[in-house]
Amino acid sequence: MQTVYGQMSDEQLDRVIEQLRDQADQVRSRGLTLDMTRGKPSPEQVAISLPLLDTVDATTDLHDEGIDCGNYGCFEGIPSARRLAGELLGVPSDQTLVLGSSSLLIEYETINMFWLRGTCAHAPWEAYAASHSGRPPRILCPVPGYDRHFAITEELGIENVPIAMTDDGPDMDEVERLAATDDSVKGIWCVPKHSNPSGVTFSKRSVQRLATMRTAAADFRILWDNAYAVHDLYPDCEPLANIFDIAGAAGTQDRVVAFGSTSKITFPGSGIAFVAASRRVLDDISRALKVALISADKMNQLRHVRFLPTLADIRAHMARHAAYLRPRFELVESKLAAGLGASGCATWTHPRGGYFVSFDGPDRTARRVVALCRDLGVRLTPAGATWPGGRDPRDANIRIAPSYPSLEELSDALDVFVLAVKLVAAEQEAA
Ligand code: PLP
Repeated sequence: MQTVYGQMSDEQLDRVIEQLRDQADQVRSRGLTLDMTRGKPSPEQVAISLPLLDTVDATTDLHDEGIDCGNYGCFEGIPSARRLAGELLGVPSDQTLVLGSSSLLIEYETINMFWLRGTCAHAPWEAYAASHSGRPPRILCPVPGYDRHFAITEELGIENVPIAMTDDGPDMDEVERLAATDDSVKGIWCVPKHSNPSGVTFSKRSVQRLATMRTAAADFRILWDNAYAVHDLYPDCEPLANIFDIAGAAGTQDRVVAFGSTSKITFPGSGIAFVAASRRVLDDISRALKVALISADKMNQLRHVRFLPTLADIRAHMARHAAYLRPRFELVESKLAAGLGASGCATWTHPRGGYFVSFDGPDRTARRVVALCRDLGVRLTPAGATWPGGRDPRDANIRIAPSYPSLEELSDALDVFVLAVKLVAAEQEAA
């Protein structure tokens, strides 16, 4: 990156650094305490779902299409909730399970099942290393990506392999090359719509290539975390191709396992979460989960379908969320453009949905920017978190999460962020 600071004389640069340090001292003296660490909805956003709590009370008929939600049974989820999950993830309802409140937990349990038992009569992934001179199975990880995904596979002993993210989704030439030539490559993490953190929606061509590519591993799995399936900021957002339809036509339907939840539709951590897959894979997941679960919280499923009975209702509800989120994302764009647009110091994404903006500064600066922001009263996601093992080889990427602070707080936090990026970049140039 050629920055404005690189084009200055030593005297000019010293003067600029002095001015920026003065500004930093002034900010420090304000004693700010602002938080942009995680992508959480703001309290006002969460409040739009409060009427959900009124949909079930002591006088409510607790039956859903013949299922008694007040008692054990119906492990796979109540019929209306499965229909809704199917609409959201793009499959018939009998290809879904609606479970507890966390999609991340279902992801962990599913991959744990691949690891311990294997699917569709394939050997457990755990056995791979023993029969291949200790080489662990590998998972492709588009970067920047979601730290908690990487943590799940790392924890099991799977090797996370970074893959560059492009404007169309993961670098498919590299994905196809690795998947076709290396049978230790057992799958790929994907957040296909409004990806965390880049905001990228995979192009139709990328979805087709993922679903139809040749894989050396017969049990290759696409871990399709569609967490932001309906989280559009604008009415004309690019749609996501239905990977199940494409895989079904290509005969690769066992390859795709999709996840989702209403965490960022209703209540984070208290929504309903679901998984979709071919009948064969879903049977394997059910068998594994049934060991520990009789049935999930059907009352919460009932509250959700009474509040948001159809996908059209969910879309109308999401338009209300977007009214809170859009000004925050537009503020990020305008503050970064005004503060850093001409500096040559930074590039960032321009998401049309989801919860994050992905920011790249000069190499070897992200950790120092995050530390300086903290010192100035603004907490950010740790630098490196968007890479497997927390190791960003360029130390350049920072995830910006603008959803939670008020607009006034966000404005202050972004001013501090811009100042920190400039100061660290200028100091690096002078070093
Ligand atoms: N998947 C992605 C891509 C996310 O960004 C998040 C939350 O930030 C989750 C899953 C967590 O979802 P849940 O609350 O359903 O576990």
